[in-house]
Amino acid sequence: MNSLDNATAAPRVLVCGGGIGGNAVALQLVRAGIRPTVVERAAAPRPGGQAVDLRGPSRDVADRMGLMPGIDAKRLDERGMLYVDAAGKESLRMPADMFDGKGGVAEIEITRGDLNQVLLDALTEAGGADYRYGDRVTEIHQDANGVDVTFASGTAERYDIVIGADGLHSATRELVFGPERDYSTYLGGYMSFFTMPTPAGVEPHWFSMHSLVGATGIGIRPDADPATCKALVVVRGPADPALRRDVGAQQRLIRERLAGGGWHAEAMLAAMGDAPDFYFDELARIELPNWSRGRVVLLGDAGYCGSPLTGQGTAMALVGAYLLAGEIAAAPTDPCRALAAYETTLRPFVAAAMELPPGGVRAMTPSTRLGIRAGMAVSRLMTTRMMKPLMMRMLGKTDGYTLPDYPRAVRSA
Ligand SMILES: Cc1cc2nc3c(=O)[nH]c(=O)nc-3n(C[C@H](O)[C@H](O)[C@H](O)COP(=O)(O)OP(=O)(O)OC[C@H]3O[C@@H](n4cnc5c(N)ncnc54)[C@H](O)[C@@H]3O)c2cc1C
Repeated sequence: MNSLDNATAAPRVLVCGGGIGGNAVALQLVRAGIRPTVVERAAAPRPGGQAVDLRGPSRDVADRMGLMPGIDAKRLDERGMLYVDAAGKESLRMPADMFDGKGGVAEIEITRGDLNQVLLDALTEAGGADYRYGDRVTEIHQDANGVDVTFASGTAERYDIVIGADGLHSATRELVFGPERDYSTYLGGYMSFFTMPTPAGVEPHWFSMHSLVGATGIGIRPDADPATCKALVVVRGPADPALRRDVGAQQRLIRERLAGGGWHAEAMLAAMGDAPDFYFDELARIELPNWSRGRVVLLGDAGYCGSPLTGQGTAMALVGAYLLAGEIAAAPTDPCRALAAYETTLRPFVAAAMELPPGGVRAMTPSTRLGIRAGMAVSRLMTTRMMKPLMMRMLGKTDGYTLPDYPRAVRSA
C-alpha cells in the first residue's frame, strides 16, 4: 500500500542528501504541501565551501524561491579576480564588471555554507521537513507502486518518490543506477577548499590566485567575516583512489605541492590542519543518459556534475531542485510523468552549464615557469576589448534558458 492509493494524499518523498540541491528541493516541496524526509549522512548541516556563483537562471530561481533577502544579507563583497606572483605582486586584475558580472566573479557571490543556511532558514519558516542527520540509505527496492528503503540505522520505510541529492559520489546512484565508474569521468585533478585566518597583505574584497611551478594553483577568496578567508587549492595529476575519504593523504598531497610555493602557501599550510571545514574532492564530470529509474531520481551533482571548474554546480542544483519540486507538485499522483517532465525541461540548461572552460584544469595549473607566463599572456588577451564579444558568448552560455512557472510550488508569501 502506498500513500498515493488515496488520490488526494501528498506523495511520500525521501530526499537523500541535505546539501544545496536536497535542501532546495525540500523547501519547494514543503511549499507545495508535500513534507519530505531528508536523510543526511553528516551529523549536522555541513559547513564549508567558498563563494558559489548565482548567475542567469539560478539567480532567477533564488528570486522566485524568495531567497534573495537572506542571500543579500550574507552576500560577499567580492570585486573581481587578481593574479599575483610568488612575491604577491599583481600580474593581472579582472574587475567583476569587466565581463558584466559573468566572469570568474559573478554578480552574486555567497559562501556555500551561508547559502545552505539561507535554505534551511527558509525551510524552517515554511514549516520544516523531517531531517535525519547521521543516517544514510543502504538498500533501495522499488516496484510499480512504491520504493522500499532501508537505512543504516536499521529502520525501513516505503516512499512514493526517492530523490538522490547526495553529491558527486552519490550512494543513491550507486544503488539504483550502478557503479560510479560507469558515469564519472576524472578531469585530471583535485580541488580543496577550507577556511583560514586572513593573512596580512591579502587585498580585501578580491579573489586572488597564484600559480605554483608543478601544476598547482592556490587562491584566497573573501569571507563574509574579514578576519577569515577561503583558501582554494587546485592540484593537477593522475587519479589516486587512495585519496578518497582519507584526509591525512589529501593533506599530505597538498603539503608536498605547496612546499616553498611562495605568496601565502605557508600560511595556508599552517591553517589547513585546524580548518573546521576542510573539503577535498576530485574534479570529475558526472553524466547519465537518464536521471530517473522508475520512482528514483537524481538531482544536482549526483546526476549532472561538471566539477567546480564550470562554476555552475550550485546553479544546476538550484535550478534542478526548482524544476523537480515543480513537476512533482504538478503531477503528485504520477511520479513517472513528473520525473520525465523534470528531465525534459532541465536537459537544455544542464547541457549548457556543463561546458568546461577552454583548457580545463590544465589551463588553471601550468607546470613550468614558461607555462605560467604563457597562461598569463593568454588571460591578458582574453581581457582585451577585441576578445570581449567571444568571452561574453562563452560566459553567458545559460542565459538563453527560460524557466517554467510552477504555480503549486511557489515561494513563501
Ligand atoms: C562541504 C562541501 C563544500 C563544498 N565546497 C564547494 C566550493 O567551495 N566550491 C564549489 O564549487 N563546490 C563546492 N562543493 C560542491 C557544491 O556544493 C556542489 O557542486 C553543488 O552545490 C551541488 O550541490 P549538491 O546538493 O548536488 O551536492 P553537495 O553540495 O555535495 O551535497 C550533497 C550532500 O549529500 C550528503 N551525502 C553524501 N552522501 C550521502 C549519503 N550516502 N546519504 C546521505 N547524505 C549523503 C553530503 O554530506 C552533502 O551534504 C562543496 C560541497 C560540500 C559538501
